[in-house]
Amino acid sequence: MVAAAMAAGCVIGVDLGGTKLLAGAVDERLQVHHRAYRLARTDDTTAVLETILDAVLEAREAVGGDVRAVGLGIPCLIAPETGVAMRCNHLPLVDVPVRDIVADRLGLPVAVDNDANAAMLAEWRHGAARGASDAVLLTLGTGIGGGLVVGGRLVRGARGGAAELGHMVIAAGGLPCPGNCEGRGCLEAYVSGMALGREGLRVAREAPDSALGRALAAGREITGALVTELTHDGDTVAGEVMGHMGERLGIGITTLVNVFDPEVVVVGGGVIAAGELLLGPAREVVARHALRPARDHVRIVPARFGAESGMLGAAVLALELVG
Ligand SMILES: [Zn+2]
Repeated sequence: MVAAAMAAGCVIGVDLGGTKLLAGAVDERLQVHHRAYRLARTDDTTAVLETILDAVLEAREAVGGDVRAVGLGIPCLIAPETGVAMRCNHLPLVDVPVRDIVADRLGLPVAVDNDANAAMLAEWRHGAARGASDAVLLTLGTGIGGGLVVGGRLVRGARGGAAELGHMVIAAGGLPCPGNCEGRGCLEAYVSGMALGREGLRVAREAPDSALGRALAAGREITGALVTELTHDGDTVAGEVMGHMGERLGIGITTLVNVFDPEVVVVGGGVIAAGELLLGPAREVVARHALRPARDHVRIVPARFGAESGMLGAAVLALELVG
């Protein structure tokens, strides 16, 4: 009962990914009192919704039932006014009024937003972009997630489709976009876990004596995570692949700095484990190529929140709903 009393006034933040779900009971200081994990069931809409409800109920029970609201971060195009999931690449949530369904079932206020917007909100309110009126978030995972704060407001666009920063073109006529996009030369084709794995494989073949080359010879799959790990361990060849990706990231950030003049650019996602080996080259490109005065002031920093940024951001959505 002590735990329940301490957790009074919690909200529940839910981060729904393409493969797994995390629900957290979170207080106003973003302390997490309980975490509920589920595999995302993607067979049909009902299964997805039941998984969300099941995890929320576990988290609610764990903190004694006293919960004020629920926030959902889902990897879909969300209509900002209605909380309807309109389009979704990895989940069967097309034209589903997620907010109203979950609110009806739980009898609680519910806020819904795109997962990248939720991560931006967590960093803006409590993390690396705290206090900024203008900020950019790039989450480098398999692909790229983007978030944007302009003039003290989270930017969602006219139809909820804004801040797709990974689809900024950095090379006209370049590589086909690996995402659900018909463009070529998008940032995501050059800067992502997927791109890192592709470049890592190319270099492993060229340099069989490197740690990457030896990993390939030993039958390991050359993934972005492996290149990040070997960079972190000091392998020069992996470090060069990462450095080159950092420069491409810098080209993308240069455009964002010129367009938005942000105080801070926050870089998160799994690839940021490489730290300065990624951000250093990016900063050098921005310092050379972005316009003044923006380039003299912008900070390019790692995200504060890692794998839980989506869940914490969803909790912030819920906290702000009940204010
Ligand atoms: Zn694209």
